[in-house]
This record gives sequence, C-alpha cells and structure tokens, in this order.
Amino acid sequence: MKDAARASGSICPYCGVGCGVSVAIEGGSVSRIRGDARHPANFGEICAKAVHLAPTIRPSGRALYPLVRERRGGALMRKSWDDALDYVARRLRAIIASSGPDAIAFYGSGQLMTEDYYVFNKLVKGFLSTNNFDTNSRLCMSSAVAAYTMALGSDGPPCAYADIELADLFLIVGSNTAWCHPITSRRLEKRKRADPERVKIIVVDPRRTETADFADLHLPIRPGTDIALLNAMLSTMIREGLIDDDFIRQHTTGWSAVRDRVLEWPQARAAQICQVPEGEIARAARWFGRAEAAMTLWSMGVNQSTSGTAKALAIINLHLASGAIGRAGCGPFSLTGQPNAMGGREVGGLSHLLPGYRRVEDSEHRAQVAHLWGVEPERISARRGLSAVAMFEGLARGAVKAIWIICTNPAVSMPDLDLVDRALRYAELVVVQDSFENTDTAAYADVILPAAQWPEKEGVMTNSERRISYLPRLVDPPGEALPDWEIAARAARALGFSEAFSFSSAEAAFEEYKLLTRGRPTDISGLSYARLRSGPVQWPCPDPHHPGTPRLYSDYKFNTQDGRARFIAVDNLPPAEMPDAAFPLILTTGRIRNQWHTMTRTGAAPALVKAVPEPYIQINSEDAAAAGITDGCFAEVRSRRGLFVAQARVTAEIARGVCFIPFHWGRQRGFFKAANNLTTRARDSISEQPELKFCAISVRRVDDPAPSGRMIVK
Ligand code: SF4
Repeated sequence: MKDAARASGSICPYCGVGCGVSVAIEGGSVSRIRGDARHPANFGEICAKAVHLAPTIRPSGRALYPLVRERRGGALMRKSWDDALDYVARRLRAIIASSGPDAIAFYGSGQLMTEDYYVFNKLVKGFLSTNNFDTNSRLCMSSAVAAYTMALGSDGPPCAYADIELADLFLIVGSNTAWCHPITSRRLEKRKRADPERVKIIVVDPRRTETADFADLHLPIRPGTDIALLNAMLSTMIREGLIDDDFIRQHTTGWSAVRDRVLEWPQARAAQICQVPEGEIARAARWFGRAEAAMTLWSMGVNQSTSGTAKALAIINLHLASGAIGRAGCGPFSLTGQPNAMGGREVGGLSHLLPGYRRVEDSEHRAQVAHLWGVEPERISARRGLSAVAMFEGLARGAVKAIWIICTNPAVSMPDLDLVDRALRYAELVVVQDSFENTDTAAYADVILPAAQWPEKEGVMTNSERRISYLPRLVDPPGEALPDWEIAARAARALGFSEAFSFSSAEAAFEEYKLLTRGRPTDISGLSYARLRSGPVQWPCPDPHHPGTPRLYSDYKFNTQDGRARFIAVDNLPPAEMPDAAFPLILTTGRIRNQWHTMTRTGAAPALVKAVPEPYIQINSEDAAAAGITDGCFAEVRSRRGLFVAQARVTAEIARGVCFIPFHWGRQRGFFKAANNLTTRARDSISEQPELKFCAISVRRVDDPAPSGRMIVK
C-alpha cells in the first residue's frame, strides 16, 4: 500500500530566484511540486522547470556506487567508499609530493549547498594548501562579484525582490529574464501592469527576446557595446542635470574621473557604436535620471565578457550618480544563474576567496580563517588559485595533474570544448563527484563518486537577493550516494585530517561556517537550522533577534575603508575576437526557457524537452539570405575553434550580424550540437570570467548535415 502523500517545504534547485516549493512525497518518492505561497521569493508561483522536477530525480544514469578505473582504458570497477577514497587520497598525496599542492585542482558548482562548499573549501585551502578551488560560478557572475567589491567595498547585491514592487524604472541589461528567471520576470510584469503609465522598462539586448517584448523601450545594441551605451546615458544625465550632487558629494569618491570619462561619450558617438538611434539613448537616460526609484537587473549578457567587470562598474556608476542605491526600489541587482551561486561566494567558493568575503591575498584574512580552522596561517597559500578556465589550461599543458570535479559538467559548459577534452585526457587523475554517471564529463573519469542530489540531502542555499533558505532531506539517496559535504569530509579523513573533519551532520558544518561570518558583511550569526526551518532570512543577520536585512547600504555606509562608494571610470573596449572576412558574424550563446545548464536533469523530463528537442541557430533574415539559408534548413557554423551544425531559425528578432545558439547540448547528444565547440576562452582580466557571449563565426547552408562523416548522434 502506498504512503499517503505528505508535503514539505524546500526550494527549487534550479535558478538563483530561489523559489519556495512544496514537495509532495508518496511511497518514498517525490510525486508533485507546487509553489510555496509563503516563500517571499515567489509567493506560490513556480515555472515549468520546477513543475517537472519529479522525473529528474531518479532517471537512468544516476551514479549509485563509487567506481574506480585504475588504468586508463580499463573498466570502471565498483569499490567501497573506503577503498575509493583511499585510492583518491593515495593518488593526490603522490601528486602533491612530486609536483606540489598547486598541481591539484577542484572545480565545483553553484548547485552545491553552502555546507558542501564549506567543507571542500576548508579541505582544499586550509589543509591541502592550494587555492585551486574554483566553481562554475566563475562562468556565471564573477564579473559582478569583482565590480561590487571594487565599487562598494564588498560583494553582495544591495537589493531585494521586494524592491521590484517599489521601483518605477527597470533597466534590464543582457538578461532574458523572462526565460532565465521567469518568476522574477512575472513579478516585474505585474509591477508594470499595476502602474503602466509610471513604470518604465528598458531592455538592452541584441535579440528581441520575450523580455524585450514587454519593454517600453528595447535597445538592440551591437553585442559588446554596453559601456558605450551606459556611459552615454550618464553623460546625458550630467548634461541635463539629472544626477544627485548631494549623494555624490557625501557618499562617494572618484566622481570627477568618471564625469570626465563619460562626457567623452555624447549620444551621437554611442549611437554609432551601439547601432541604436541617438534619441533612444537620450530617452533611456531621461527615464533613468528622472525615476524616483531605478533598478538595474543584469546577468550573463553583461558578466560573460572580457569587459564584464567594467560593464558592471558602468551600471553601478549610473546608480551612484543618481543616488539610486540603498533606497526602496533602487539598486544595481545582478541576477545569479544558479540556486546557490550566492552561497558559494559567501563561503569563499572562488579561487581568490576565503569564507566571509575574505581574500586569500590578505594576510589578516588568512590568519583569521587559519585560527578557526586550527592550522598555521602559512598553511593557507597567499597565491590566488587558478580560475575555472585556467585550471583546464593548466591540465592541458601538464602544470596541473589532477582535477576533482564536483556537481558540474565542464565538458559541456566550458568554452572551447577541444581544450576541455585535451585537459581531461591529459590529466593524471580525474575524479568526478556527481549524481549522474552518464554526463559528458563522467566519460573522462578515473573515479566516480556518487552524490546525493535535491531533495536527498539537507543544507542551505542563498538566492540572488541574499535570502538563505533551508532545504530538508525529503527522500533517501539511491544506492550508496552521499551528500557532497560528507564525501568531502570522508576524503579529508582519508587524507589524514580526521580531527578537523569530524562533522557528523550538515548542521555541524553550517555551525562552523557561521563562526567565520561573525563581524563580516555576510554575518549570519543569528541564523540556525531551527530558525531557518520556520522561514528564510536575508543576510546580514548578526543575532538571533535580528530580522534580517532586505536592503544593504540604507545608511549609505559602504564597505570601503572610508565608508564611501567608489566611482570607477571605464571605457568601451572591443571584445577579444572581432568578426573579419573569414568569420564575419558574431555568436552569442545562452539558455532556452525550459532547459537548465547541461540538461543532466531537465533533459530527463519529457515535457521540458518536447518544446525544443534539438539545438538551433537563430540568424537575422538578411544574414540568412546572404548565406542562402532558409528557415528550417541545416546550417554549418564554424569558428576558429570548432564546428556546430543545426537547423536555422531565420528571424528579424536578432540584430543583423549576430547569431544565437543555446548552449545546453553537449557532444554526447551529438558531437556538433555543442555550442561550446565554437566559443572562446578569452576572459576578463579582473574577474577571469570567459567571453561566452561573443566570438566570430561563419555560417553556411548544408544540405547534408553530417560534416566530415561524423553524423550527429542521437
Ligand atoms: S524561477 Fe528559477 S527557482 Fe523559480 S521555479 Fe523557475 S527555475 Fe525554479
């Protein structure tokens, strides 16, 4: 007889909106997902991805047991946890002994829980003495992290979703919010409908997306020209007296350099570069400057660029110049793509960070963390670790010899997949810790460690608005799969660090991490699992009676040494690889509405796959005509790095000279279906975020879609 269904609260494990969900469990399995009406991120609404979570929990391909391949070319053999982790520990120790600690690297994910990140980070940075622990958040929003830190003194989006109901101007830059953050988008649309005359929405995007469809003003700029536009907007605001002189004088530094720089950007100059009418730049500037409460929302279209940090700084400059920060309905708001990318930032899940928004290069920060971890300060390296792309470059040239990949699929999601292929084949040791053993990345593994996934483990996650939610364990993991934090703790014990990794539960890891936030911008001393079980809270929350903090900087005290926000002058620089005669078009990549990252989970939900079962290339009608491409025909797309083949969608809804390809498909689903065959690993010099939104391509019609005899595998 089946158990009666019981429903428990959790949050959706997909995007950074962090929607609360009510999960019905029947017979030990998830039977239905509904929105949680009490959760302040979504008030009961959820999107299709969450509705169809149930079939993604136990599809075929789940990793069930530890597997070890002791010899390249040999078979993966089932092992006990102890044997598998002893094997990994032995191999890591040998590599460290021969080549030093920086010869090993760990690549994690914004889908880990905070406790998972914490235990791995402690092991790698505190005990293995390398800072080579980076995550796929590097590909997602490290430019926003860098810009917030440079301008405001620390990372952390200042806004809350509740500010959406209080804003009267939305500037959305490089974000198809309607598809990528659907519930935030619905909230925005409701705000517009509630006060259609007053509320204005500006969307900056080379494509006419569904987000652009509900905008009052769509600026289809040429990719890579955001700073020209943003500087020209600020220049217009200065000339028309639409800046807040008092705020600038009392709460900021660096204004004169920014003023001088942006005044070099009259509308006419920007219009020519951005390829949008001058009058529309002026209109956007006036709406922004005259708004009582302006919010800017941005995501990968800004961050995934060799100028990503500068673009985010240009956005923050607009807000500082108009005093649109720290007030209701205001602020520069970076939307995170993954459910716990924010938690990863807080806990130091990037290779230059330590927990509590500390930096590895700061000796005081290292000493504080070392003290709590019970190690000598020298044990934590003062060198920045390798960032995501640099790790794979290191593997490909032999400087890095081992990589441990946790809960992510870089053989699909990284730029320039040929490099990733080379890196993983050359590596002496590839450990893949994942809930799935059938991913593109797992095909390279010497060791597969089976991990529990949502909702098979408990822990906390932080959404885009700094709101920490508790996720309970609702069903048992299959086979011998374990929570990621527990795998890290067991591995640490196998490496000889038993005392420091004696965590008996996720809660024990959370309580230890919490100590490292005391007195820091991310202070969560007031939180506990018990408190979070009764509802999510926004940090900082320094004591148990503190209600949490919806909005940062409401006292206009920034986290810089002098308490003032910093203006930083930025200029428009071209992307790394410009179109030329051989590769005349620009490629931008992104998501589609119903898929998530590399389709490991969403690809297992038939209802989500049905609408768009295959990748495609979106191409402007005039570019298509010039290449003899008609709607629905196959097109072969080349860049300097590789080849992609798919059907064409010919449309006027993308700017001339620009093409779009969704990135979800990897080579296992068809070698030439992978958008990242084409993309470049050029990256921002500050944030080290790769330029996934811009590379040069050529496109031609093909009547036989099986180039070089390598037919697409289904
Ligand atoms: S908007 Fe994001 S968090 Fe909310 S239900 Fe959809 S995928 Fe999940």
